[in-house]
Amino acid sequence: MAYRGRFAPSPTGKLHFGSLVAALASWLRARHAGGAWLLRVEDIDPPREVPGSAAAILATLERLGVGADAPALFQSRRGAAYAAALQRLRDDGSAFPCWCSRAELGAAGAAHRDGRCIAPARDGQEPAWRLRVPRADIEFEDVLQGPQRQNVRDAVGDFVLKRADGLWSYQLACVVDDGFQGITEVVRGADLLDSTPRQILLQRMLGLPTPAYLHLPVAVDACGCKLSKATDAPPVEARDPRAAIAGALRFLGQAVPQVRDPGAMLCAAADAFDPAPLRGIVSRKADPQAPS
Ligand SMILES: [Zn+2]
Repeated sequence: MAYRGRFAPSPTGKLHFGSLVAALASWLRARHAGGAWLLRVEDIDPPREVPGSAAAILATLERLGVGADAPALFQSRRGAAYAAALQRLRDDGSAFPCWCSRAELGAAGAAHRDGRCIAPARDGQEPAWRLRVPRADIEFEDVLQGPQRQNVRDAVGDFVLKRADGLWSYQLACVVDDGFQGITEVVRGADLLDSTPRQILLQRMLGLPTPAYLHLPVAVDACGCKLSKATDAPPVEARDPRAAIAGALRFLGQAVPQVRDPGAMLCAAADAFDPAPLRGIVSRKADPQAPS
């Protein structure tokens, strides 16, 4: 099967160094394999969205020469596909409605584990929908982080597919769209390693193939905090593509090709790309300004 990779940013701010690392690594991996690279905007949480940031992220990638093979897929337009997936899980008894308040969940140890709601149905109020998580371990081999195993029921319990306010869960949307986009390998930060068993479980319950997984070290600041909008990570400077790409390549343990043209630099980096230096590393200090 031909390789298909993706980068799936949330439009909650401009592209910063940590997200550039994930974008570039997935692009290099796809180009090295001679495969396709796709974009997906995970805009399913309007309250957290920063207006204009989806367009800004896509424009920055384009200016850096990290180009996609198809127009970006927007999750905000995928509600019908998520509804169909939820209906399928409801039809086979794998999803159940939940009317629990935060307080009720707190009393139950913050997790649902019995495959049914612990609160009474409330007339006229939309429920959340949860997955009835079976008693089983999910195991997979991560390309960089090695063998992984999680009992989803013990770790997170019956997790949410659709919130009571009507918003779709990240887990359901991600799984449905990785299937829809035909993704063969997911390359992303190790902060999402913990979500992967839930996603593999959902793939199995929805009859979708499970892609390979490669979880990269997360870029952290001097204090060990993940670079994010919350830590005021500065946006990537797209006016100097060579410097931005060189910084991300160094973070990824790759040699920086000594060519002036950013496009030629990206091609050479893709030819040579080997993620082996990152094996077993879940976080690494970001130093985007170091000289190349
Ligand atoms: Zn409940």
